[in-house]
Amino acid sequence: MHVRYSYLKQQFSNCDDLWKKLKKFVVTGDFTLGKELAIFEKNFAKLIGTKYAIGVNSGTDALKLSLKSIGIKPGDEIITAANTFVATVGAITELGAKPVFVDCDDTFCMNVDQVQKKISKKTKAIVPVHFTGYMTNMPKLVKIANKLKIPIVEDACQSILGAINNKNAGTWGISGAFSLHPLKNINVWSDGGIITTNNKKLYDHIKLLRNHGLVDRDTVKINGYNSRLDTFQAVVGNWLLPKSKSIAKKRIENAKYFDDHLSKIEEIRIPPRPRNYKIVYHLYIVFAKNRDKLYKYCLKKGIEAKIHYPKPMYLQESLKYLKHKKNDFPVTDYHCRNIISFPCDQHLSIKQQNYIIKTVKDFYKKN
Ligand SMILES: *Cc1c(COP(=O)(O)O)cnc(C)c1O
Repeated sequence: MHVRYSYLKQQFSNCDDLWKKLKKFVVTGDFTLGKELAIFEKNFAKLIGTKYAIGVNSGTDALKLSLKSIGIKPGDEIITAANTFVATVGAITELGAKPVFVDCDDTFCMNVDQVQKKISKKTKAIVPVHFTGYMTNMPKLVKIANKLKIPIVEDACQSILGAINNKNAGTWGISGAFSLHPLKNINVWSDGGIITTNNKKLYDHIKLLRNHGLVDRDTVKINGYNSRLDTFQAVVGNWLLPKSKSIAKKRIENAKYFDDHLSKIEEIRIPPRPRNYKIVYHLYIVFAKNRDKLYKYCLKKGIEAKIHYPKPMYLQESLKYLKHKKNDFPVTDYHCRNIISFPCDQHLSIKQQNYIIKTVKDFYKKN
């Protein structure tokens, strides 16, 4: 059996209703900051539970514009997680700021108990990454940040509808950054991103930043960027958004099924599943003994398993100037060696799930 990782071919194989909407849309010519975008922003804010949302052209820009809007300048230090996707770090370095890493714990998110000791006079923001669809321990982090008066910008790119105590990712910090990249849980047909906030001043500022700082056609108030979410993509977003809760639900059900069966295998360890956390499983990850061999075995058996990631961000060549050494972040390093990701999306069939479970069982019987 073949178990693919990407479900994109399935997701849009049957969407005649979307094509109809797009056909209607293209003849309006309303391509830039159009009506459908305003609708998408309103509905996205409502879904997440903030007053405002601003569409931008990627998740990376959602982070970058958020940081820019709170005044991040070259030389500032930004605290973030050691095990994230490159984009978190890219948004920070593009503003000339310095990423200061904190090790993660077994939820794959920043260990907030280690934040305090990384704070310096130059610390100007904290960017927790709700990695894999988990949540950073936000109740605790918000307390620490409030005490220090340091703003939090959430990297919620992997955690649309993730929550703690029913409070969603993207509502805890001064703003939240989401990605609508094709591989994210809520996706459009190309790059896209969106920022959530309750802060009117920030909202107005980011709206200027994403559109060259233009107040109107002839008036430039601040120096900005071209970072608009295409209205075309907002049409796709408006089509998908009503399905977002059922997508999260299906992923959670699939993960529960994996947990129930994989936890019976002695060589597999399931990460903690705190009861007050809603984990939306952008990635489904477990710890596996003999991981490299299991990974190769899965590939041989037709299962497109993945490793997120085999080499941590802090050891990448692009960050050599930070002078980190191997083992600076031991939990992150442990994860790099021991985790494996399996597909967990809403289009995965029960047959495919059972095949994955059986394949893992077979591997450990033989090894
Ligand atoms: C995907 C992702 C981003 C950036 O999103 P893009 O839309 O690809 O620019 C940022 N942070 C994390 C953790 C991500 O997974």
